[in-house]
Amino acid sequence: MNLILMGLPGAGKGTQAEKIVAKYGIPHISTGDMFRAAIKNGTELGLKAKAFMDEGNLVPDEVTVGIVRERLSKDDCKDGFLLDGFPRTVAQASALDDMLKDLGKQIDHVLYIEVPKEDLFKRLTGRWICSTCGATYHELYNPPKVAGKCDKDGSDLIQREDDKAETVGKRLEVNLQQAQPLVDFYGEKGSLRSLDGNKEIDEVFNDIDEILKGSNQ
Ligand SMILES: [Zn+2]
Repeated sequence: MNLILMGLPGAGKGTQAEKIVAKYGIPHISTGDMFRAAIKNGTELGLKAKAFMDEGNLVPDEVTVGIVRERLSKDDCKDGFLLDGFPRTVAQASALDDMLKDLGKQIDHVLYIEVPKEDLFKRLTGRWICSTCGATYHELYNPPKVAGKCDKDGSDLIQREDDKAETVGKRLEVNLQQAQPLVDFYGEKGSLRSLDGNKEIDEVFNDIDEILKGSNQ
């Protein structure tokens, strides 16, 4: 069961990844973790990647793809894996296909947790933090009793830069532009499975589970 998990920020990708890994026992392979491990273990590709990152440059595809290849060749991936954060571009997706063919594997499902941009915007911009104790609130899901004040100590609530409307809007736009060509790519190949990410967390997981159970038979 070789899977790719996709979803824009705020779509609940991390939560679903945890649930998939817990139930199906396949490794969760996030790009960040993979890079950190390669660098820590001092592999040749890890050191190459580090050199680019240290200079503030993007790691070129050939290095990234090489690191993914090393990771997917490991023993714990023999019954499947859950890729998260890779591929990011159609070029990387094609390289992944070639690599998997080499390894005698293929991607079975691309799980895409879809939430309309307007809803993600509401989820991501509604977050407020207490300036004194750090307690977090959400305008919609966990509002403070008095608007703008912490329930515990009455201090003013502030918004982090990352949670401000302008930052969130930009981040979503960039991510959407990046994701769309991949969604089209996997849609054409017939491996895209769109999930309604506006459902409750457990319902989204049930939908994923149905897809994965079907492919296990
Ligand atoms: Zn507080």
